[in-house]
Amino acid sequence: MQPSWKEIYPWVKTALLNLESVDSLLRQVVEKIATVYEAECLLWAGLEMGVSDALRVYGVPEVVNKYAANFALEPALEGSDRFSALPADPIQAFVPRSLPAWLLDQQNAPQIIQLETGELVIPITSRGMAIEDPRGRASLTNPLQFVLQLRRSLAGLPVFDSNAQRPLFSLGKELTSSICPIRGWNAEELESLEVVSSHVGLAYSALYWRQRLEQSRQQAALIGRISRLLNSTLNPDEVVGRIVAELGYGLQCDRSILVDLRDSPVTVLAVWDYPERQMVALEERHIPRGYWQNIIDMFMQGGASYLQMGVHDPEADPLQDWMRSIGVMSVLLVPLFIQEEFFGAVALLSYQQERAYLLDELQTVRQVADQAAIALTNAQNYQRLWRRQEDLRVQNDSLQQKVLRDELTKLMNRRSLERELEQLSMAAVWTVQPPFSVIVCDIDYFKMVNDAHGHLVGDEVLIELSQRIQGQLRRGTPAYRYGGEEFVVILTETPLDQAIDVAERLRRAVRGHAMVTQAGDLEVTASFGVAQQSPTTDRTAWDVMQRADKALYEAKRRGRDRVHAVELPVRSGDED
Ligand code: GH3
Ligand code: MG
Ligand code: MG
Repeated sequence: MQPSWKEIYPWVKTALLNLESVDSLLRQVVEKIATVYEAECLLWAGLEMGVSDALRVYGVPEVVNKYAANFALEPALEGSDRFSALPADPIQAFVPRSLPAWLLDQQNAPQIIQLETGELVIPITSRGMAIEDPRGRASLTNPLQFVLQLRRSLAGLPVFDSNAQRPLFSLGKELTSSICPIRGWNAEELESLEVVSSHVGLAYSALYWRQRLEQSRQQAALIGRISRLLNSTLNPDEVVGRIVAELGYGLQCDRSILVDLRDSPVTVLAVWDYPERQMVALEERHIPRGYWQNIIDMFMQGGASYLQMGVHDPEADPLQDWMRSIGVMSVLLVPLFIQEEFFGAVALLSYQQERAYLLDELQTVRQVADQAAIALTNAQNYQRLWRRQEDLRVQNDSLQQKVLRDELTKLMNRRSLERELEQLSMAAVWTVQPPFSVIVCDIDYFKMVNDAHGHLVGDEVLIELSQRIQGQLRRGTPAYRYGGEEFVVILTETPLDQAIDVAERLRRAVRGHAMVTQAGDLEVTASFGVAQQSPTTDRTAWDVMQRADKALYEAKRRGRDRVHAVELPVRSGDED
């Protein structure tokens, strides 16, 4: 039967093909090696980054906890970066606050050793793979990718002497020796571990670069999406809201804000919070300018396209006090210039750890900020223009009201009626819409009112009658004052019989009860003429008006206080 550790080979092969992320690879490596080699396993990762906040220790919590006190291990917060795992994963990632001395030695000279405490240390190197330093410092590369720390029960084995920490052999050199100086492990196991490690190293590199490529692709997509989004609105509030949301989400920070730095105090214009992180609301939207002055000066003077700041950074800045006061660990600031004028900054805030952004992330933020500045400029210009137009429109409206309404009765005036008749006479309207009807109304014996009580009382009657007529009509159906005491109503899409009903309603509203005037209550009646449009025999709306007028004359002639309608004209050809 082949030894159980041999099953590690086929596993590494499949892992190489199937795994999705660096993080899942490292988790599975820890789990697999622990099971296959029957050892406690820890994996120190993120060593090649040269930045402390990329460091992780992977292991099952019971094993990690044994070392927690020594290196101040803290659980890596789930979701706080892209190396996140499902909560059910037995392997957890921890952030070490300090490194053991032997690990620092490994960074200088990677080699397999056995610690005094019996643990086997296996370094995995990138074999010359240079990884760009995320802070853009001089190429700080380290061939060490990660380190496996394996511990087997050494019960019954002799205790090491103090110089046991010396390297027992260098990578790949003395493994062929049949006598293996590392206790608790046989030569074959060690050899297989070395092969496995180098394969994992390759898989790690492949996955790392695949991940970086995917990130670049996502960031290109993000820029495209943001520019489309920004161009789809001209409302400045919406523009700033979208800028902070897309940047915050795209770069997975805890909170992103847009600060207007032109005035004192500076104003937080928009805030976006990472949805599931239950952030305490940013209450103070106006921040004393003193906190920001250094930053403002820096952006105004030099063309810095971004600025990163951590609460623990050595250079003391007032903004760090502000960051501390709101519990922020680090901030990435990107200045915004609008039409060459300094406007403010987008700030990406990290509350859980000091976040270091990768170079392409910084480039993304810069590009988005430029897009945002353009969108904001457009939106502001548009708002200005819109407001001016709106002012003009309001002015225009009140002017139009004056031109189109009758001063005395507030009904639409003769000019409006003419416009309406013109509209109705337009070819398309004329033939396509269902026929309309016209009601013409004239007060009976109005001259007598004037003669008996004076013009002012006559005016009172005109006003009261206008209100009664308009009160009987639907919204959108205006009554027109056509002449001195003559009124017109146009009923669109209304046949003659319905128009007659409406005219009857108006007649009753006029004579229904006495009109209260200075001269006492006056009984007033009016006569009504009604006609319906005939699209075939009438040529314009004035033809219909004329027939309604004729009907009115007939109503007067027949005794007043009545409605008269003319039958539809009959086309000559239709007559028998
Ligand atoms: P009929 O029943 O035949 O219509 O008799 P009528 O007296 O109403 O005759 P007509 O329609 O010809 O009279 C119009 C009168 O309306 C003449 C004028 O004194 C009066 N009038 C016209 N405009 C105004 C106005 O703005 N205010 C007042 N108070 N009277 C007006
Ligand atoms: Mg008249
Ligand atoms: Mg009259």
